[in-house]
Amino acid sequence: MAGARLRTRLRRLWTRRRPARWRSAGILLTYTCNAQCADCYENSGPSQRGVLPLEDLRDYLRELKRLGLDGRALHFGGGEPFYHYRHLIGCFEVARQEGMLPLGKLETNAFWCKSDDLARRRLGEIALFGVATLQVSCDAFHQEFVPIERVRRLLRIGREVLGEGAVRVSVPEFLRDPIDVAALDEEQKLEVFRDALGRGAWRMVGRAARRLAPLAERRPLEAFAGARCARKLLGKRTIHVDPHGNVFPSVCAGIVLGNARQRPLAGMPAAFELDQHPLLRTLVETGPVALMQEAIARGCEPPAGGYASKCHVCFEARRFFHEHGLYPAEVGPEEIYTDPAGSKSALSCSRAPSRVGEPSRARSDGLA
Ligand code: SF4
Repeated sequence: MAGARLRTRLRRLWTRRRPARWRSAGILLTYTCNAQCADCYENSGPSQRGVLPLEDLRDYLRELKRLGLDGRALHFGGGEPFYHYRHLIGCFEVARQEGMLPLGKLETNAFWCKSDDLARRRLGEIALFGVATLQVSCDAFHQEFVPIERVRRLLRIGREVLGEGAVRVSVPEFLRDPIDVAALDEEQKLEVFRDALGRGAWRMVGRAARRLAPLAERRPLEAFAGARCARKLLGKRTIHVDPHGNVFPSVCAGIVLGNARQRPLAGMPAAFELDQHPLLRTLVETGPVALMQEAIARGCEPPAGGYASKCHVCFEARRFFHEHGLYPAEVGPEEIYTDPAGSKSALSCSRAPSRVGEPSRARSDGLA
């Protein structure tokens, strides 16, 4: 009986053509960040400039409310939300005006906690708006850029100001036994990163595809055959909206379901037609291997060492498409695919696309 129910659920998932009802959303306030973490799937960094306009945020909050979401179903992330601190406060102010507080979660890497006084002042200001959880990034990758004392300060003062249970740290084991990653030489850093990779599942997308995938165990393309993404792309009940209005399904950064500046968020799921989203359709119906095979047929050189995960397969194909202007409506924005922190990966596909095969540009415009 349970088996039959599971089969029915899976069949529904695999045949899904539209996004499930969204129950939560992450709003990416900016792509700017003080750090350039090796695991960052958004390529955030100091030279990334995208910042969410406050009036756009107001529209998105109204639309999300129409979908039945309240402030607790939302989180503010980035980039680093505290990098443009007055903008962060502006976002809270808009959320307050729109009745979308308290906020479910606010993310930060604590880089700004340079003194007790500053930490207390800023957290006091945020506490007045109301936030259920302050999520503090702390791991081998963030501590290449942020001294661990600042994380400790934020945790201590955050618990004082926001409440004991309101502050969480992303990798508590690292905090218990931290490594001063910034003081290590390149070889030592790679060793630490390799070790961190062995302790969890990492999304090999964005900068992670360039910096971490070469450190991970890699497998040939065929090893990922059969991996499909209907659940992640359409079945998950969460989205992220970036500073340009791009709506990413779940945590699949760089895959665009639609743009909230062009189509109101509340109407997006009902208006979504999988057949008008050819790249998504391939991922849903066939999986990332088919996407990479298409990229290879168009001239992408497969990475010599293989792939670290199905998302790495997916990202290498998308990076090729982005580099050559293919699937422009579904692959973007620039920030996710262009990393100012480094040259293009040795794994990157760099040849010009062949003209044989399906005309993806036309398909991506829904013209097929
Ligand atoms: S393979 Fe692509 S679509 Fe599938 S979960 Fe990974 S990033 Fe998302």
